[in-house]
Amino acid sequence: MKMERNKSNIVEEIDRHKEKWTALSLKIHDHPELSFQEYQAMEWLTDTLSEEGFRVQKALIPALPTSFIAEWEGPEDGPVIGLIAEYDALAELGHACGHNIIGTSAVSAAAALKNAVPDLPGKIVVIGTPAEEEGGGKIMLAEEGWFDALDAAMMCHPRDRTMTLRGSLACVDVDLVFHGRTAHAAANPERGISALDAMIQSFVAVKQILPALHHSANIHGIITQGGEATNVIPDHCEASFLLRAKTTEELSRVKQRFYEAVGGSVQAIGASYSAEEGLTYAERINNHTLAKQFQHNLEGIGVEVDDSEIKQGIGSSDIGNVSQIVPTIHPYIKIGEAVTHTHAFTEATRSEKGMEGLNQSSKALALTAYDLFTSRELVDKAKAEWRQADSN
Ligand SMILES: [Zn+2]
Ligand SMILES: [Zn+2]
Repeated sequence: MKMERNKSNIVEEIDRHKEKWTALSLKIHDHPELSFQEYQAMEWLTDTLSEEGFRVQKALIPALPTSFIAEWEGPEDGPVIGLIAEYDALAELGHACGHNIIGTSAVSAAAALKNAVPDLPGKIVVIGTPAEEEGGGKIMLAEEGWFDALDAAMMCHPRDRTMTLRGSLACVDVDLVFHGRTAHAAANPERGISALDAMIQSFVAVKQILPALHHSANIHGIITQGGEATNVIPDHCEASFLLRAKTTEELSRVKQRFYEAVGGSVQAIGASYSAEEGLTYAERINNHTLAKQFQHNLEGIGVEVDDSEIKQGIGSSDIGNVSQIVPTIHPYIKIGEAVTHTHAFTEATRSEKGMEGLNQSSKALALTAYDLFTSRELVDKAKAEWRQADSN
């Protein structure tokens, strides 16, 4: 069977170059770069892809100089499958989210695919998406259409459990500036308008609207600027809020209620406010068709999947915005017991177990991409499911 032979060739190809991929992943790990500054990681990943014969384009948009796309076209037309690479690290912690593994697994899967199956029909696309931890790089790339040409998108994230499905919430940051009028707090308070009172009143009002919102909704706020001196009525205060909801649609209702609460509070005091919103993170649409195929391939290489008690909507990630455009999966591979964003996880992402996770995720990504390249039926099924989910 040609298909089985191709799949075992892909697995062998990844194993044959195991040391090379381990070395690349460790090199990125030993040189952690923060969001928007991943120049070195981008160079290492794209150099490798160029050597492998991929056509590379860097700095896809001015705001993301460390983004890239690398394409390889087979001899015949076929699906366009995207492998997503992340490669940013965290301040103080380094690669405590294992993006050194994510970036390398996307590149190694892409290389193995075309080396093991040179007559693959379609196009392999590796998209380098910087600034996952801070900044929402994929949201910016999505807004500029960089995922539009894909038939499916995949990446694999290391963590403390192997799983293929996980929910994530829609969210948006809102920074508020409260404007009042300054006056001496004791001598002539009647001449002042307290921006601080307007802000405190807003916090109270926002807390009070929460029970009336959808149970998935949440609003968290902190005061970032609360005045300068106790004997001065502050004319300028600042706060930051994070609004979350199950869907982007629900989030716009939450936002509306939030602004009503703030607006009413501010008005009652006679103050005013201005707001600045960050990028909107969309909820993740899990593609079960792709997830099942990924699971099948993981099990085929001897990795057990634990999708019991699927955790719905805890955090938010910019992969959600990709999943709004194209059938997407964001599965996880277990590399130990440590949890992400800890020193212990930084150790895990360079450990032997971490490199085993790299090898496994690279194989599962390549094999699942292979299934898509060779089965129009599978691509169509994933797309039909996506259309259905998107219209719900
Ligand atoms: Zn992270
Ligand atoms: Zn991460």
